[in-house]
Amino acid sequence: MKKMILSGLTMVLLGGLGAASSSNYSTQADIPAIQPPPKPATLSPTTGTLPAAPAPLPKAADLWIEHQIQKGESLAGIFSKYNLGTTTLHSILEDNAPLYKQLTRLYPGKTLKFKLDGHGKLQSLVYQQSKTDAIAITKTTSGFTSQLVTRQPERELQLAGGVIQQSLYLDGKTAGLSDKLIMKLTEIFGWDIDFARGLRPGDRFTVLYEKLYIDDQPIGDGAIVAAEFINGGQVYRALRYTLPDGHTGYFTPDGESLRKAFLRTPVKSARITSRFNLKRRHPVLHRIRAHKGVDYAAPIGTPVRATGDGRIIFRGHKGGYGRVIVLDHGQGYTTLYAHLSRFSKKFKTGSSVQQGDVIGFVGQSGLATGPHLHYEFRIHGRHRDPLTVPLPGSHPIPLPLLAGFRQQTEPLLAALEQARPVAVAKAETPPAPR
Ligand SMILES: [Zn+2]
Repeated sequence: MKKMILSGLTMVLLGGLGAASSSNYSTQADIPAIQPPPKPATLSPTTGTLPAAPAPLPKAADLWIEHQIQKGESLAGIFSKYNLGTTTLHSILEDNAPLYKQLTRLYPGKTLKFKLDGHGKLQSLVYQQSKTDAIAITKTTSGFTSQLVTRQPERELQLAGGVIQQSLYLDGKTAGLSDKLIMKLTEIFGWDIDFARGLRPGDRFTVLYEKLYIDDQPIGDGAIVAAEFINGGQVYRALRYTLPDGHTGYFTPDGESLRKAFLRTPVKSARITSRFNLKRRHPVLHRIRAHKGVDYAAPIGTPVRATGDGRIIFRGHKGGYGRVIVLDHGQGYTTLYAHLSRFSKKFKTGSSVQQGDVIGFVGQSGLATGPHLHYEFRIHGRHRDPLTVPLPGSHPIPLPLLAGFRQQTEPLLAALEQARPVAVAKAETPPAPR
């Protein structure tokens, strides 16, 4: 396990991140400034006695009440508890209609802060929704305005790495990665590495990610900014980069997108029961019949995802395929999903689908010995092995931006490389006897 904080790198990388932002829901342009308190009357320097004029009455101090929301509590209940008045509550909700839902659906454990004037009248209300987000409501001459206050957390880069000995989940946890980061890691490399079936002991990973802080208190993990995964000796690297159009993605050091035009498999974590084989003996027909796809055993009802963006060109029954969907992805690519139990109601023949969309559900329709998905991949009508066919990439870094991309991601690559020898050293340690 290797963990270190790269504060120097943080400075370089995060120089461009903006300051706190807030979106304003109020109808008025500004929240009125708080009136300064009246100046106290000065004593006469010459007499030393009580001043002739009476001292002004001390202004009743503003009072802040902090209330922790209990289970089952409503805003109306809390208002009544502190005698804040139903008129005030209605006025707040009416004046801030876009926030109605957020204000009326309170979460237990979060806090509400009320500022009352000397007469117990509500001046402002702050609903702290999370460590970073709060709704601030302030009384004005014409009602109540609201502001969504968002605090930008401090970000610090952290490195974690490890060697696969048991599973990515267990070894990732040992390396200090949260569930969320492990999930993100599998998403980033999901087009190249089959995490459900293809990991081997000795595979290595290095992750450079953001840790988020508010007031020096850790509040969670941010994004993975760079990662390396060595799977079966093959090195995969991912660098996070935001294009000028605002799209953020993960790219190889050469600027190729890690996201491919196709997912390798249409069902998550299913077992392969039959591979692409042009000389297979058919289990039902008992004669040599090419198996022109891959079979995934999965329970009936398991979601089947479109492996690439495309259009449904066939959806219906077709002989031994049973209930089947064929997608056309353009440029000669088609995919086929057979033996489905049912189709997704979201689509019909002719519908456009996106990569990852659930188009149907695993079943046993047609010629099938048990519930499974039969998946085919064709290029210009020719069947290819879905598990090994080279998958086309999608949207690399445009050529004119490549130099800028390289310059910006160079320190990330250096950090990954620096961290790697530690992982190698660990891999060479003989495993403890069991
Ligand atoms: Zn099959």
